[in-house]
Amino acid sequence: MPQPIRIAVVGVGKIARDQHLPALARDEDFQLVAAASRHGTVDGIPNFRDIETLLESAPEMEAVSLCMPPQFRHDAARAAILAGKHVFMEKPPGATVSEVEQLKTLAAEKGVTLFASWHSRYAPAVEAARVLLASAQIKAAAINWKEDVRRWHPNQDWIWQPGGFGVFDPGINALSIATHILPPMFITQATLDFPENRGAPIAAQVTFRTDNGIPVAVDFDWRQTGPQSWDILAETDKGSMVLSGGGAKLVVDGKILQEGPDTEYPMLYRRFAELVHGQKSDVDLAPLQHVADAFMLGRRNVVEAFFD
Ligand code: NAP
Repeated sequence: MPQPIRIAVVGVGKIARDQHLPALARDEDFQLVAAASRHGTVDGIPNFRDIETLLESAPEMEAVSLCMPPQFRHDAARAAILAGKHVFMEKPPGATVSEVEQLKTLAAEKGVTLFASWHSRYAPAVEAARVLLASAQIKAAAINWKEDVRRWHPNQDWIWQPGGFGVFDPGINALSIATHILPPMFITQATLDFPENRGAPIAAQVTFRTDNGIPVAVDFDWRQTGPQSWDILAETDKGSMVLSGGGAKLVVDGKILQEGPDTEYPMLYRRFAELVHGQKSDVDLAPLQHVADAFMLGRRNVVEAFFD
């Protein structure tokens, strides 16, 4: 049994508390040795104000988990890689495609693991959907990812700033699943709705086409009250598929084929341990590239101001 990987969490906020700390506490492959955050702290371990102080003060640490918003991830990842640490990055892995490409090159040069995590790919029914679609003829697909931003992202100013992705912050989760289970695709048309007082979109309608011509219609909306939808649908020769609940449940022609409890973050840390032990990296930029393309190709609509 190898020694546990000594890891620190950086950016102690919502996702660090909800998922990373509980997953690490239960994982024998990791030992949480420190945290760095300007305001947040973790009980029972040394806490530092920022990653620079952490890197100077905790030389025994082998890895960091970067849980801050994407605009601030690159500099932290670069500093950690240069210090010879393995790096786990929350999604989205950065604010631009090229900054993450550079991190990938740097990690290879320094011989450390870089993991650009996509938690939704580890949702319980995603693998079954991938297997189903791999052997089916797909006629059309659609993604409906509609949630109430007031409920899920209260007081998150960064998410409304350029580089915070707006509705693409949850939307990229859908794209991380779609790029895993559907054939390769590219954007042919996009419309992005920006509230007049915000720097990121509140809604987006995006049309993709797969390389064999299948249309994929995407509807992201943050103004959904009542029932929330995180669904990927496909019409196939094997029936009508609905992957719902953000990848939690797979239904074909009304019959449940797969459903299970949420183990996304424990599985992400399994994967990270495997990569570290295997001296490998895993940096798939496909979901981030699609978001970049939507911003590049998309028509910008100005819609009514949004207030929390
Ligand atoms: P958050 O709570 O708003 O931010 C996380 C922490 O990052 C903050 O507590 C803050 O800690 C630090 N931070 C904020 N602004 C910073 C800045 N300018 N410079 C350095 N650090 C800063 O956000 P979150 O919901 O945890 O999301 C963080 C990341 O996880 C995002 O990329 C998001 O997409 C992803 N994620 C979130 C969820 C979710 O359910 N919320 C789910 C999956 C993935 P200090 O102020 O203490 O430094």
